[in-house]
Amino acid sequence: MAMGSPMRLPPPEYWVGLGLRFDEALVRTLRELSDARRQEFFSRDLGVDIEAGKALLEQVATDGWVTPHILYRCPVCDEELTPEQASRKQCSLFECAAVFKDNGGVIREESYRRSLAASRSVSWVVAIHGMKSRGEWQERLTWLISTTWGRAIPTAIYKYGFIVPGVVLFWRRNQLRNELRAKLQSFKADLEAKAIRGNPDVIAHSFGTWLFGHLCLKELKKPAEERLCFGRVILVGCILRPDFDWQTLKQAGIVSDVLNHFGDGDCVVPLAHYTIWDSGPSGRQGFTGTEVANVRAQGYGHDDLLSMVKKLPPTTERESLGLRQTFMGSALYKVWRPFLELPSEDLAALSTEHGGGMSWRSSVWPLRGTIFPLLIIPALLTPAAWLLMLSFDILAGPRRWLGWAAIGLWVAIAVYAVLVTISMTWNWLQLRSQQDES
Ligand SMILES: [Zn+2]
Repeated sequence: MAMGSPMRLPPPEYWVGLGLRFDEALVRTLRELSDARRQEFFSRDLGVDIEAGKALLEQVATDGWVTPHILYRCPVCDEELTPEQASRKQCSLFECAAVFKDNGGVIREESYRRSLAASRSVSWVVAIHGMKSRGEWQERLTWLISTTWGRAIPTAIYKYGFIVPGVVLFWRRNQLRNELRAKLQSFKADLEAKAIRGNPDVIAHSFGTWLFGHLCLKELKKPAEERLCFGRVILVGCILRPDFDWQTLKQAGIVSDVLNHFGDGDCVVPLAHYTIWDSGPSGRQGFTGTEVANVRAQGYGHDDLLSMVKKLPPTTERESLGLRQTFMGSALYKVWRPFLELPSEDLAALSTEHGGGMSWRSSVWPLRGTIFPLLIIPALLTPAAWLLMLSFDILAGPRRWLGWAAIGLWVAIAVYAVLVTISMTWNWLQLRSQQDES
């Protein structure tokens, strides 16, 4: 019998042959994982009977399709350790510092690996974070990427610090978008100087998805030769409108393919539509239509997919092995990596929402992206006005404070009215220009 190769997919007849010698359900499960281009297999992936799974994988290894491997993991952070790291007393990953001995020792597990040639290779990656994070997940992502591919893939991290107040103000948002563009251009130039070419793949979270989406829309208005173009795009906790026009962006070649990995337990995303202009809950319900591969993460909240603290709920057989996977590690392994590597025509199969996400309509226009300023501005101005009056009270005697209070209050209301007018007018102008374009 001809030997297999860990670089190719076994042909259909191979599986038929195996089905005659092993439990059929087991073979079917393994075949599905193989056809999804998994690079590593565990006997626990195949079902509750660990020994039966192992026997099957041993046979596939004997036939040359996979190679046995010993995998070491930290018992606390659950990440993969090199044999050298596993031989130390303490975990050296991400300030985990767990003492192995006190936590039941390093987890050692047998796996079966292969190295299928990717049908698409990742050139470089940009990670864009949300508004209330300093982007610690990007560091973890960089590390996960380097261990996952086993070769260095340049990963550029776009950081802009803590920007909650800025996000609701339109001039600040525009400024952030322009800064992002300038930064992307400089990343590209740096890498080209090192002979790394090709468009970057993008991973964006939360407000980063909004910035990225609107940056792409703006590229459309530039002449083709000046545009920034991107490869595949992974959106997590996305706040773009569910009917966002990815189709036009794909046709123009600004992005090649889009994955929306959404948590249906996300409670932050639904608020976006009322606080940030031209946004919506695609990160909770998916994009409508079939342009985007929508992948549901059942019960996940806004930041869960980026967590390396939270772990998949233990199932009986996994618990017996003391092994669980972090949310982010498993998302990269099971969804993001296949998305980045599969041929274009296979991407639709990743989607869990056949026919697209739930239908969606935007709210009446005075509510879009305006509630946050409406609430925040008086909340800030009222105590400020009162403090001002109190200080005058001390300075100018007991009776005058009422007068000052009135003045302070009126100043606050006037400033507030001006800001609301600006915000409303701007919303209206945006709507009008949208209508003009369509
Ligand atoms: Zn650890």
